[in-house]
Amino acid sequence: MSAAMEGHVRGNWSVAAAVGVILVSATSATGATGTPAVRALVGGTLVDGTGAAPVKNAVVVIREGRIACAGTRAACPVPKGAEEVDASGAWITPGIVDAHVHLSQTGWADSHPDSLDVRDRYPYEKVQAGLREHPERFFRSYLCSGVTAVFDVGGYPWTWSLRARTVTSPDAPHVAAVGPLLATHDYWLNLPAERQFISMTDVKTVREGVRYLAANGADGVGVWIVLQKEQRLEDVIGKLRAAREEARKFGLPLIIDATRLSEAKEALRAGAKVLVHSVIDLPVDEDFVAMAKTNGTIYCPTLNLFLGYAKMFDSVASGKPPTVDDPNGCVDPATRANVAETASLGAGRTEHPRGEGMNTLLQKTQQVATSNLRAVVAAGIPVAMGTDAGNSLTLHGPSVYAEMEAMQAAGMTPMQVLVASTRTGALALGSAGKDLGTVEGGKIADVLVVAADPTADIAAIRKVRLVIRAGVVHRVSDLAARN
Ligand SMILES: [Zn+2]
Repeated sequence: MSAAMEGHVRGNWSVAAAVGVILVSATSATGATGTPAVRALVGGTLVDGTGAAPVKNAVVVIREGRIACAGTRAACPVPKGAEEVDASGAWITPGIVDAHVHLSQTGWADSHPDSLDVRDRYPYEKVQAGLREHPERFFRSYLCSGVTAVFDVGGYPWTWSLRARTVTSPDAPHVAAVGPLLATHDYWLNLPAERQFISMTDVKTVREGVRYLAANGADGVGVWIVLQKEQRLEDVIGKLRAAREEARKFGLPLIIDATRLSEAKEALRAGAKVLVHSVIDLPVDEDFVAMAKTNGTIYCPTLNLFLGYAKMFDSVASGKPPTVDDPNGCVDPATRANVAETASLGAGRTEHPRGEGMNTLLQKTQQVATSNLRAVVAAGIPVAMGTDAGNSLTLHGPSVYAEMEAMQAAGMTPMQVLVASTRTGALALGSAGKDLGTVEGGKIADVLVVAADPTADIAAIRKVRLVIRAGVVHRVSDLAARN
């Protein structure tokens, strides 16, 4: 076990970021616990997550897991006796927040028999028991990728326990979780005695569902709106209104999954605080924009999700293993082995064969989603970055890089993407995110040291070298997964 995994890193640090190398000299004296009372990042360019202009030659002082001061050397002198981390030549940013994940899903088909059925090899109930038993492999992959907080926006009831478990842990991202989703239809993918979907059968069931979520400490009320052929939008409106009223009694925000414009507008009419997906069927209209602005709704575009599924179906059809975009080697060996196995599953397991029709549909959907993102940004609606990690081939942790790059490719500036991936992501977490998301005095010290300029190209975040979680410094190379 490395020093970093013990929760402490001893000694003075030097980041020779220009050449992508970190030099560590373990020469200085430290406190009895190995964690100094005060630590200072010195000399890097601070990009604090608020959108403010970068501060060159900055100092970030960390005391007892929180940021005591962040700014110029004059504004934030290095306290006497502080352990110094030399960040010259590097950039200092907040930890990344992924505002859309599912820890009840593995990132592969074994947790999604509804897309590709591998239950003969990986029984669903066993997969789920394993997820509950060992969420730490994903915690590590997140931290290793620079992600220090995630919002689980739908899953089994056990995900609620993760918030308390991770809140002070230097070895896991903060986890906020909504737990089971209220769903506009009775979706089948549940366990015999546990549900991840609560069917919105009628208004009474909806109110009971919200009370159940509130009683268990949910970080929001998650709602999945996807109308079936036999359903009409009018039938859902009363139930959404009931969800809104009941959630309001408990001060819980509505976190809504709705991908069609008509459904997303009903979500906004019900006061949605976060939309966890892009609108993918039609351009957003004036009504949509006006309601989102009135609510202060945060729009999470989740651009790359479908590309993960497409990659999986391509691999099944071609017999070639899918590529894995994991520049820092963060994904655990079991997940990597499963991903590689996709190629040998053989066609015939899926009802979604990849063909020209699917390619065309995917292309059109991506076009609508990216132009809607531009419209939403232009209208001043706050945007948060979220990957939908846990879905097939959207892997926990490193999926954030491609998602941020897709947002940049859609027309957001690197700075806008950085703010979406830090401050606004933390806002999406609601009360669970109030001390997260920026490098400012008083915030929890979740900070990255990055070896390239993220304000020139957001792909720089791939070059994360140090991940500081609640003041504890991890080298990314120590967090990387081992065989
Ligand atoms: Zn999702």
